[in-house]
Amino acid sequence: MGTSQQGRPELIAPAGDMERLKTALHFGADAVYLSGKQFSLRIFSKNFTLPELDEAVRYVHDHGKRAYLAVNSFVKNEDLAPLRSFLEAASPMGFDAVIVSDPAVFDLCKATMPSVAIHLSTQANITNELAARHWFGQGVRRIILARELSLEEIRKIKQKTKGEIEIFVHGALCMAYSGRCLLSLYLADRDANQGLCTQSCRWRYALVEEKRPGTYLPIEEDEQGSYILNSKDLCLLGMLPELMRSGIDGFKIEGRRKGIHYLAAVIKAYRWAMDRYLEDPAGYELPPDCWEEILKVSNREYTSGFLKGKEELTICVDEEHSYRRSTLAGVIKDRGTDGWVCIDVRGRLLIGDTLEHMGAAFPNPVFPLSDMKTLDEQDCREAHASDHVWVRLPSPAEPGDLLRKRLA
Ligand code: SF4
Repeated sequence: MGTSQQGRPELIAPAGDMERLKTALHFGADAVYLSGKQFSLRIFSKNFTLPELDEAVRYVHDHGKRAYLAVNSFVKNEDLAPLRSFLEAASPMGFDAVIVSDPAVFDLCKATMPSVAIHLSTQANITNELAARHWFGQGVRRIILARELSLEEIRKIKQKTKGEIEIFVHGALCMAYSGRCLLSLYLADRDANQGLCTQSCRWRYALVEEKRPGTYLPIEEDEQGSYILNSKDLCLLGMLPELMRSGIDGFKIEGRRKGIHYLAAVIKAYRWAMDRYLEDPAGYELPPDCWEEILKVSNREYTSGFLKGKEELTICVDEEHSYRRSTLAGVIKDRGTDGWVCIDVRGRLLIGDTLEHMGAAFPNPVFPLSDMKTLDEQDCREAHASDHVWVRLPSPAEPGDLLRKRLA
């Protein structure tokens, strides 16, 4: 049975560990994708041990959401036996789907977890209706299309096939064809196709003329250096109405290595905008709060990727375009009385700081920090990362909400 409701795509968020998983659900994701310590394309994320995976699925289901297990690396012969054991162990956990790229993983999933739906990863590079039909015919429930498609091409694949279609709507883009890349393997001996990408495309590069070793020629006249392989970040927030009308079943956010502040901001912006569209499609306009939210977290310049065809180039971005206007100050853990909340501090806090309270809904109240106490009720003026303190907020708050600090 499918998981998306007609006209209401799922918002799917990355969960690199348990805290990020809880944050994703708190800020409105319908589903999360996560992985074990091996066999996914984000080995450098913290990820989950087997008992943690089990706990994570139960937490997700207790909250009425869905959990997808990413097993989307390309495996070698010596991986097959451990992979089979891993899948056998994960099978009873009740994942709603497993995400695969390699046909070997697909076959092993069918053999070891026959009741779990299979989603085909973007790394399988599906770019046309015949390929999509092939995989649906094999029993795949959902295909996460290659990122190199225009919206028109995506629509046609959706119309001409019977399975579910998912696309990436937000996050970093590869400079290679949907992640099929050898840069990291060549330059750092880490294979991106086995989850070990060192993001070599984002390193600084310069031209060197062979007779002048050590003389680095910048590609552009820019003191910051040049980033010839560096892509802008994908952001389709501005295209939501067309995407919502296209029949696409899943909107996926990239970034299992991103922190909770980034995740909360991006999920909140998409959730809020999607819900406003669903309430009143004819009268919908992108709420300004959503766009503001997206700009408050670290990003490169945004692009709509290939969705509008090739009119928008995605390359050549330098650090000047990567900016951050807020930083995470703390996570609300508990509520007291009279507006007091206990927070897990994540950055230096000083009485007088301008803070922003970020819950699941807009607007985000902004207030000066005027009251702070230690856990044993002593007034204090300063707190540091990993401290737990009480602060007083002017607005109602929930555990899981965030406090952030405005940067000058
Ligand atoms: S090095 Fe860059 S282009 Fe290659 S897989 Fe990693 S992120 Fe993608």
